[in-house]
Amino acid sequence: MKAKEFMKMILAGMIGTFLYESIMRFFPSFDILKRILSLIGGNLANYSSFVLFFLIISFFTLLYLGNQRGSGISSLAIPRKPQYIAEHGFHCSFGAVWNFLYGSAFIFDENYVYIEGPFCSRCSAKMILSSKNWIIWKTYLWMCPKCSSAVRRPTQFLYREDEIIKKRVERDLRTGDFVAVGKKEKLVLRDNTTYLYRN
Ligand SMILES: [Zn+2]
Repeated sequence: MKAKEFMKMILAGMIGTFLYESIMRFFPSFDILKRILSLIGGNLANYSSFVLFFLIISFFTLLYLGNQRGSGISSLAIPRKPQYIAEHGFHCSFGAVWNFLYGSAFIFDENYVYIEGPFCSRCSAKMILSSKNWIIWKTYLWMCPKCSSAVRRPTQFLYREDEIIKKRVERDLRTGDFVAVGKKEKLVLRDNTTYLYRN
């Protein structure tokens, strides 16, 4: 988990506490939670302990919700692989390589971009999803089964990476911002770049 996210959690906890205090000020009868806690233990009835307790609870709740985000269930329909290929190539983003096909499923249909990947930027094997669990948070990775290189997935686009790559390739094809390459050409790959095979 990044420091930025950690700060967000703390901030959320503080806002939660502030809200609780505000509610208490205007609606003193809302004090029911405090009364319940005072039944549980004398120590918790102490106001500062309660604030701390509330802060900890909000913190862990948010941490849990943060970890739940993106459960891997994609609501998107799996796109059909085009059969009539007009162009093909690959795109580098997020430290991995993505192949793309630009074509249509039926002849004379409109062309669209179809993404496959991610592939390892070192040995070009198809990478597999992986994660490391650190008790309360997770690190999401792509692992290469061949050379075991690992790439950290972008938390900002978790489970939407294909969608983002598709948009980037569409943009680059539209604006002509791509590098034309031969199939056997040796290349130094640049991130966030689309490479189009010469036909
Ligand atoms: Zn590899």
